[in-house]
This record gives sequence, C-alpha cells and structure tokens, in this order.
Amino acid sequence: MEALTRDFFLFLSKNNFLNKLAQNSGGNFAAGKIIGGTNFQSSIRFIRELNKQGLSVTVDHLGEFVDSKEVANERTEECIQTIEMIKKENLDSQVSLKMTSLGLDIDRDLVVQNMTRILDTAEKNQVMVTIDMEDVPRCQATLDLFKQFKEKYHYVSTVLQAYLYRTEADLADVSDYNPFLRLVKGAYKESPEHAYPEKKDVDENYKKLIAQNLLNGNYTAIASHDDQIIEFTKEFAKKNNIPNDQFEFQMLYGMRNKTQLELVKQGYKMRVYVPYGLDWYGYFMRRLAERPANIAFVFKGMVKK
Ligand SMILES: Cc1cc2nc3c(=O)[nH]c(=O)nc-3n(C[C@H](O)[C@H](O)[C@H](O)COP(=O)(O)OP(=O)(O)OC[C@H]3O[C@@H](n4cnc5c(N)ncnc54)[C@H](O)[C@@H]3O)c2cc1C
Repeated sequence: MEALTRDFFLFLSKNNFLNKLAQNSGGNFAAGKIIGGTNFQSSIRFIRELNKQGLSVTVDHLGEFVDSKEVANERTEECIQTIEMIKKENLDSQVSLKMTSLGLDIDRDLVVQNMTRILDTAEKNQVMVTIDMEDVPRCQATLDLFKQFKEKYHYVSTVLQAYLYRTEADLADVSDYNPFLRLVKGAYKESPEHAYPEKKDVDENYKKLIAQNLLNGNYTAIASHDDQIIEFTKEFAKKNNIPNDQFEFQMLYGMRNKTQLELVKQGYKMRVYVPYGLDWYGYFMRRLAERPANIAFVFKGMVKK
C-alpha cells in the first residue's frame, strides 16, 4: 500500500497539466507551508519569521535538469541577486543549488563559468553556497566540480548521500579539503547496483558517515527528519567531545516544526531548507511520495504549530 501511494504521488509529480495549473495559481496554496514563495523576494518574510525563532535558513530556487543555456544563465543571474539580497537584508541564510540548474547536462564549461560568478559573489558577501547532490550519473561530475571550486573558494560546500556504496570512499576523498558537508540519506530512485536497497543499511551507513566526518574534525550538517539519526548524533557528539558548533541539523521547511524549535532550545544549530520558485508542484508531490502523512499539514494548517 505504501509503495502504491508513493508511486501515485511520483506519477502526479510528473503531470504537466497539473504542473502548469500549479504555476498559474501563483503558489499561494504552498507559500508559507512548504515553499517560501514563487520568488526569493516573496520568501523573505518567511525567512525572517524563521530567523526570529532562532532558525537558520538555506534557500533553493526550485527547478533542476535545465536544458537550455539561456535558462542556466538566468538561474545564475537570479542566484547572484539572491546572495546580494541575503546580505543586504541581513538574513541568516545560505544558498543551495543544483549543478543541473546551471547547465551540467549541457556543458561542463558553462557550469564552471556560472559557478565562478556565483562563488565570486558568495565570497564577497560571505554567504555559503551548498551544491546539492543529484542522482548517480551526476555524482562524480558534481564532486569533481566541488573539489575544483574548493581549491579557490571558502564559501562552497556539498552533499554526500548515505544510500550509495561509494560514499564512504568519497568522504575520505573530500576530507582533505576541510569541507562543510551536508550528509543525507539520499532522495533519488537508485538501483541496488549503486545503493543499499534496505533502509536499515542506509541508516547504518548514515551513522558511520556522521561519526567519521565529525571525528575528521569537519563541519557536518545532518539533514534528516529521523529521530533515530538525530539522537545518534547528539549522543555521539557528547561522548566524543565534539562541540555543538562543529555540526548542525537541517530539515525541510514545513516538516517537524516543533522538533526544529526543540533542537534550538536544546542549544543546537538548526537550519531550515526553504525552497522557492514556480516549480513548487513537483517538489510538493515528491515530499508526499516520501511521506503521505505530510499532506496533513497542508489541510490542517499544522505548519503554524
Ligand atoms: C535540508 C535537506 C537537504 C537535502 N538535500 C539533499 C540532497 O542534496 N540530495 C539528496 O539526494 N537528498 C537530499 N535531501 C533528502 C534526503 O536525502 C532524504 O530523502 C529525506 O531527507 C528523507 O530522509 P530522512 O532522513 O528525513 O528520513 P526518512 O528515512 O524519510 O524518515 C525516517 C523517519 O523520520 C520520521 N519523519 C520523517 N519525516 C517526518 C515528518 N515530516 N514528520 C514527522 N516525522 C517524520 C519518521 O519517523 C520516519 O519514519 C535533503 C534533505 C534535507 C532535510
């Protein structure tokens, strides 16, 4: 039944008619619930609300797998303006982006050009830019780009996925760069050739990676809604004298709001991932596919709790 529901929402996520309808509706349904707004400007008031509650933010302009140079360049321009606005508005926010949104599927040089402009701006404004990790065919290219940028820039970080067999070796590989790393379970549908098919193995590997990265002395963002992972991190940090300022928790906007605030109260750094943009419909359906119970907060207005 669970698999059926998941497949149903994934099917809906790819429906062009519903996607267009959602874009035309202006995102009012989702704004302030699962996305900030349909553009960065309209997301600012929600980011401020989060900041006021002690929550840090990272923003992400929705829409990956860009297949035209013009759109990739527009994305770059928009990202530069977002970074400048974060600084100007004095927001406690970073930026997350995907290499495919800057043209990875078109031309690697285009991504390098676009990212160089973005990271020059990030460095000047001291705003961290995290390169989200995408699916397996883009993983090596993403890591190679990260390492290339990290040679020159401080304000760049990336993500590693616990469901991939390769990640332990990748963690060792990037460790010398003293990276700020976000560790996640992994969001894409990958084959058993590349990824652990069983949740319990993903969870075990996740804990191993968190422990390793913390012991390496590198800053670690644990991006998970899973209590078991959060408790593991807290206990591991305590036992190994890892200071609270060497790690942070991250969750998606609108998910587990009470837990987010509870973690802040306990003295942990908590960052909320706030997506924005017209392409909110597919994002929403993918969240429902992950956890159909998420639909409840939309209808019950649970987000205000
Ligand atoms: C900030 C952030 C950034 C991310 N970046 C990337 C990325 O770059 N690349 C990538 O591949 N993936 C990324 N992800 C997605 C990630 O890989 C997972 O797919 C996603 O977070 C679901 O896994 P989970 O660890 O939250 O726990 P799950 O395994 O989905 O859930 C475990 C348990 O947590 C509890 N739980 C989960 N959600 C809720 C909820 N809403 N309310 C109450 N309880 C809940 C339930 O008990 C559930 O059984 C990101 C996730 C976050 C939060």
